[in-house]
Amino acid sequence: MSLLEVRGLTKVYSGLTAVSAVDFSVQEGSITALIGPNGAGKTTCFNLIAGATRCTAGQVLFDGQDITGQTPEQACERGIARTFQIVRPLAGMSVLENVVVGALLREHSVATAERQAMAVLERIGLGAKAHASASALALPERKLLELAKALATRPRLLMLDEVMAGLRPTEADGIAQVLRDLNGEGLTILLIEHVMRVVMAVAQTIVVLHHGEKIAEGEPGQIAHNPKVIECYFGGGAAHLAVKAAR
Ligand code: ATP
Repeated sequence: MSLLEVRGLTKVYSGLTAVSAVDFSVQEGSITALIGPNGAGKTTCFNLIAGATRCTAGQVLFDGQDITGQTPEQACERGIARTFQIVRPLAGMSVLENVVVGALLREHSVATAERQAMAVLERIGLGAKAHASASALALPERKLLELAKALATRPRLLMLDEVMAGLRPTEADGIAQVLRDLNGEGLTILLIEHVMRVVMAVAQTIVVLHHGEKIAEGEPGQIAHNPKVIECYFGGGAAHLAVKAAR
């Protein structure tokens, strides 16, 4: 069953079509990746789904309901949580306090929200840093904090925008394992990612955008061998990708 479905999703910015009649769905319980070269329209799709930007045309369905044109707050209340490419923790607050802000979406008692926030931090391996200042965290930990803030809202769909960017391979692998574990517990994940090694390892379905259009959709193995994808997107990197996908 589809948890998320976009139909004919289109966004035009003063003459530039950033997203053009894109259709795809995210199956409940899956990890789906949205990939494509820079400027392909991935983040715009996220903004349209999460209510940060209004679409020019098209529909967003979540759990079978039309949520097109909702606000980010409404999206979050419905169970859509997203992270941003540029990580910005709430400065002057501790790691725990940052996560409590997310937990307060569904919990009115601060004490309970704190307990829930602490449980999320423990869950993703950031418990030891709970009382550190958020702005003092190194990049990998900031990425985990973004994840924790989103998880604390108790989402049904977690949308991650380049959560591995800037990380070393072992750090990216650590986050990939956290994502696999969360998915194993039933969380549906939609991620934008440039780190192909990770995409191939974690995603069950890949949607490829190019110049705002969907050019392919399928399992990692199919995508790695899709001539359109190889030509439009991977270029010389295709052979490398195919090797990874075959593993
Ligand atoms: P990247 O991988 O670099 O993050 P992306 O696939 O996420 O790229 P988008 O950020 O969605 O791509 O951008 C798609 C196109 O829309 C680009 O040409 C971009 O310049 C344009 N665009 C995005 N946001 C706006 C905006 N607010 N106003 C005008 N043009 C925009």
